[in-house]
Amino acid sequence: METQILRPDDDMVVITAAMNLTAGNLVALPTETVYGLGANGLNPEAVAKIFQVKGRPQDNPLILHIADTEQMELFCHDIPESAWRLAEAFWPGPLTMVLPAKEIVPKCTTAGLPTVAVRCPDCEITRQIIRHAKIPVAAPSANISGKPSTTTAQHVYDDHNGKIPLIIDGGPCRVGVESTIVDLTEERPRLLRPGGITPEQLIAVLGDLIVDKAVTAQIDKDAVVKAPGMKYRHYAPDCQVIIVAGSREKAANYIHSQYQAGDRVLCFEEELPLYACCNPLSYGKEADVESLSAGLFAALRELDDPAVHKVYARCPEGGGIAYAVQNRLKKAAAFQIVDAEAAL
Ligand code: AMP
Ligand code: MG
Repeated sequence: METQILRPDDDMVVITAAMNLTAGNLVALPTETVYGLGANGLNPEAVAKIFQVKGRPQDNPLILHIADTEQMELFCHDIPESAWRLAEAFWPGPLTMVLPAKEIVPKCTTAGLPTVAVRCPDCEITRQIIRHAKIPVAAPSANISGKPSTTTAQHVYDDHNGKIPLIIDGGPCRVGVESTIVDLTEERPRLLRPGGITPEQLIAVLGDLIVDKAVTAQIDKDAVVKAPGMKYRHYAPDCQVIIVAGSREKAANYIHSQYQAGDRVLCFEEELPLYACCNPLSYGKEADVESLSAGLFAALRELDDPAVHKVYARCPEGGGIAYAVQNRLKKAAAFQIVDAEAAL
């Protein structure tokens, strides 16, 4: 199969993408978070192709992408008032809500759960495609399962050339980490995954938020969890990744004492001169945490190279979007963190 890449400036792009989706084909779509591997979320055969092409475990449910807030009612029931408030505040945008699923949503989309995750992405071309196709689009991140997510059309092409018919190239993703997921099916709202909408922003609307254990710690692979996707190793290059915490100076001392040929250092742009002899790679500026979220996955993909032996990574501190960057890096590192302040 030949994989075609279309840019939104092509007049035919919305029609071509929508036709592919309604025909049951996969289409890779840009969003403000990461590129998604999309299929008609109401068609089990089309959804099955997502699992097959990504190599995704069957028990990991998909997010249903909709074009407008009103479409939430087509696929969810017993929608709490808090969901409408969140939609009003953050949609279109990087927020996914878990709600009770209507019968119309097939079991393969929800991985058999009674709930469904819905999101209205902040990407005009993708919303136009969904509207034109008149179907909700089920889409996980477009990377091969377990690998760092795709934030450019080229990343998608690298992972799936010859396996999918169409990639829509909307340029590099603005946010760069996946959507925030909040579960609204229990008594209290629960954060299942941090992302582009920060915990502080959620609390401002909801007045309450529990953070799920899976956000802060490694989950055993046999554990029964609310969102099965949370227990898989994620976002990771093939080699070992170690986060080195602590002040700039102490971290540099530690990394210099451990560094061996074949290792790489994933650091902030401000730190590049410190690691001149340790093959450093910057993923953005520490002083501009949005540049870190936007650059993280491209950097992790570059480090996914058989020549790289071990990666020492620097991680931003604090809340806001830094919280999502910490979560992705910790998962990529399988929660291996060295405190440089204590290590020397
Ligand atoms: P991704 O595969 O990167 O697109 O991530 C999708 C995430 O949404 C996964 O971590 C899923 O576990 C989560 N998810 C999807 N549907 C549900 C659901 N019904 N309940 C809880 N989490 C969900
Ligand atoms: Mg993913």
